[in-house]
Amino acid sequence: MIYLIILAVIFFGLLYYIKRPKSIAEATPAVTETYRDILLKEVDYYEQLPEEEKEQFEKRIHLFLHEKKITGVDVEADEHTKVLVAASAVIPAFAFDDYNYPMIREVLLYSNTFDDSFLHPNREMKQDRISGMVGEGPLSQVVMLSKPDLIRGFQNKSKPHNVGIHEFTHLLDKTDGTVDGIPEHLMDRKFIAPWIEEMEKEVRKIRSGSSDIPPYALTNHAEFLAVASEYFFVAPSEFKKKHPELLAYLQKIFRQEVSEEGVQPID
Ligand SMILES: [Zn+2]
Repeated sequence: MIYLIILAVIFFGLLYYIKRPKSIAEATPAVTETYRDILLKEVDYYEQLPEEEKEQFEKRIHLFLHEKKITGVDVEADEHTKVLVAASAVIPAFAFDDYNYPMIREVLLYSNTFDDSFLHPNREMKQDRISGMVGEGPLSQVVMLSKPDLIRGFQNKSKPHNVGIHEFTHLLDKTDGTVDGIPEHLMDRKFIAPWIEEMEKEVRKIRSGSSDIPPYALTNHAEFLAVASEYFFVAPSEFKKKHPELLAYLQKIFRQEVSEEGVQPID
């Protein structure tokens, strides 16, 4: 008898498991409408996508918001800001189907720039004010962003800065285990050496004042990739005009292409 009961429990357990609704529910039309409103108003990248890709983009936004926690530390994490966080994540990863940053679980929002003294309590020199960072050590599953800087990244069209895209590019760079400006998982091995050479070439131009890539790119190769990627996604036509060689590499890394309309995944 006891075996029958055990069998019955297993049977119904399996049935439940099989019939369990998918954990990621489709967004309701009302939710999609909200995303769409915010994206159309704020995110140029989304606006230039063809209709079909727009739908795909909305799904990815929903997936991100469904799986990641977005917490306001000393500021409100409103719907509008949450959608911008998700857009920052989806833009550089859009060509990688369903990729949703498994290494992070939470995004923390701050009311202003912050310093990283909480990570290095013994360091004497204070770091400059930071508008965003990928956590380290116990915070390695966390991304921290200054809310006003995140919003400014989407509003200020005159400067190719977007702290959200910057930080999520670091995370894509980290998919091979290190944030070093060489996202080995995303690029063909044969392009690695020429990519490093290309970065070095541009570094010399920045140093001599003959490049408009922001000088923060000089920090190291990881920052070079993140800074150049901000520019690539925020001002694609200008980037294409001024940096055709770098463009070729970024198109390969992100599997996205700059066309007349803007940037979109390569089929
Ligand atoms: Zn950085």
